[in-house]
Amino acid sequence: MNTRQLFLSHIAQTSENPLMLEIIRASGVWMYGPNDEKYLDLISGISVSNLGHCHPEVVAAVQEQAASFMHLMVYGEYITQPTVRLAKLLSAVLPKKLDCVYFTNSGTEAVEGALKLAKRKTQRTEIISCYNAYHGSTAGALSIMGSEFFKSNYRPLIPGNKNIFFNDFGAINQISKNTAAVIIEPVQAEAGVILPSAGYLKAVRQKCDDTNTLLIFDEIQTGMGRTGKLFAFEHENIIPDILLLAKSFGGGMPIGAFISDQKTMDVLTNNPFLGHITTFGGNAVCAAAAEANLKVLLESNLIKECEAKGEIFDSYFKNKNQNYSFTRIGLMMSIQFLNFETNKNIIDYCITKGVITDWFLFNSAALRICPPLNIKKDDIQFACEIIHEAIQKFARNT
Ligand code: PMP
Repeated sequence: MNTRQLFLSHIAQTSENPLMLEIIRASGVWMYGPNDEKYLDLISGISVSNLGHCHPEVVAAVQEQAASFMHLMVYGEYITQPTVRLAKLLSAVLPKKLDCVYFTNSGTEAVEGALKLAKRKTQRTEIISCYNAYHGSTAGALSIMGSEFFKSNYRPLIPGNKNIFFNDFGAINQISKNTAAVIIEPVQAEAGVILPSAGYLKAVRQKCDDTNTLLIFDEIQTGMGRTGKLFAFEHENIIPDILLLAKSFGGGMPIGAFISDQKTMDVLTNNPFLGHITTFGGNAVCAAAAEANLKVLLESNLIKECEAKGEIFDSYFKNKNQNYSFTRIGLMMSIQFLNFETNKNIIDYCITKGVITDWFLFNSAALRICPPLNIKKDDIQFACEIIHEAIQKFARNT
């Protein structure tokens, strides 16, 4: 059997039509197939490769740490340099009240940890989250998902949660003294890049303050420079009580984090002790990769350059066509078409031309464009021309 057949026979399949691109190596914004086919990655492995593939400084950090040690002990027992250095660097770039980090294996685990933390800290049980928000697929994260489609066959789930619509100012009143936490993405990702209305996040923050509810920002997609700031909360300076990171945080290695002030985090220490347990959370190699990744973001101009790069996309797609609309913040973009069929035709056409885009989990009619931040202007131009060509073919003005 060839690799394709083995993939279908022995790898658990979660969809009837996986992309099935075989990739054998990747570098920067380009991925290569076994016959040297070239693909331009405009989705960054879904918001992971903000520094492209195999960034030399991340690779060097991984190699150096792997040669020193990989795993010594479960979370939280030994003092090791990679996690301590990473936590110190994070604390230096984050607001004062986000000074204590719990490292996890994934975004979903960061969500689970944050929900547990909020329940312990407030001694309340209700979690409020948004429709069309994805926070993960494990039982706790699934319980707060605003989608019956994904939830219904997995019940019973954790009860007592509520969903509200993002940007619905009226629904903010549902946050009450019974609410342990509101978990929200400062820019809704899987809904198709939905930006917060002016004053919305501030109003949510205010209501959380009034009710002593913890505000959790899920920056698993929006963090690490994606929106043109290191963290999306910086756009309006609304500071969460708990910040969640993962995906691009590890520069391609699996690591996440939930971050709060130390006093809040202290509730995990007692009654019961070991309030959240993980074997690999904060794995040394992953932490070393995350540190190198963060240093590159801080020391380069990549985040500053997002706007100029984004403007090239604007020049192709903004206000051009009544059959689609374009949304962008930093290098987080979507093109909203009228239906899934149009979008799918465009995605498939782009793949034949070597450009990888995608749709969104909760918005299949929107095209995802989230390239590595270090994409070069020539490559942007190339990508825009291909997408534009596809639009001309499949979503022309009527
Ligand atoms: N939150 C958001 C906003 C996400 O986009 C995702 C992943 N798509 C998650 C949480 C879960 O992260 P992971 O897949 O690393 O568990």
